[in-house]
Amino acid sequence: MINKLRDIVEKTKSTPVMPVLFVGHGSPMNAIEDNPFSRKWKELGTELPRPSAILCISAHWETNGTFVTAMPVPETIHDFGGFPCELFKVQYPASGDTVLAKTIKDEIREYPIGLNQDWGLDHGSWSVLRHIYPHADIPVLELSIDYTRSMQYHYDLAKELAFLRRKGVLIVGSGNMVHNLRLVHVKSIDGFNEPYGYDWALEMNDIFKEKIKTGDHKALINYPTLSKAAKLAIPTPDHYIPLLYALSLQEADEEVSFFNDQALAGSLTMTSVIIR
Ligand code: ZN
Repeated sequence: MINKLRDIVEKTKSTPVMPVLFVGHGSPMNAIEDNPFSRKWKELGTELPRPSAILCISAHWETNGTFVTAMPVPETIHDFGGFPCELFKVQYPASGDTVLAKTIKDEIREYPIGLNQDWGLDHGSWSVLRHIYPHADIPVLELSIDYTRSMQYHYDLAKELAFLRRKGVLIVGSGNMVHNLRLVHVKSIDGFNEPYGYDWALEMNDIFKEKIKTGDHKALINYPTLSKAAKLAIPTPDHYIPLLYALSLQEADEEVSFFNDQALAGSLTMTSVIIR
């Protein structure tokens, strides 16, 4: 009973709750380009409360099992090919946080979380974070996506991360809601940022926004039933799952707003969400 009361008091304390982001990261070139997306990311850095640490769920770290990076200094991983040298030279020298990694593992008892020493920061996190926090002076951890699990599993696991928001941790899902690279229409690397979307991409963008606005997370978990277009928008769910992590953390009194709401190269959207 006393413990329960203590929990309630703890919960209602006026600790500021960190917002949650879902960021459409798009082309790795956004890491080094000055464009409307990277400018918006820079703006976020001045607008958001300063976090104690950042936990990124990146579309680019898929594993069998769920892991959290637990090294003191995560490596900047250049997990792409065919881009200019300049992009491979980018380093994002943020530290890790081994204590926080262990806390995450220990606190989330319902779901096994492994401590990882081999990964680092892939471009899903650093291409965006280097604009939001250019000084790389906030510790960054990544949480992997267990590709063997269902959408419901990811949504439920994400709920367990809620305590981190009260510890000042900024949780960032990084992916793209509409992401079909096979159908992307680009003649060169620059073409990734051509602002247009196929009809089905625009249709799905509208449906996603509507369901996010109305808080219909159930429909978003069961995205294949939303429309025939869902198959084209999400041929594989890697870039969509980070959205579910972010939405799952929305609390009853919190609002969502959108930024970088733009379709690109036919079959991608940069549409991003802030929950606060
Ligand atoms: Zn990506």
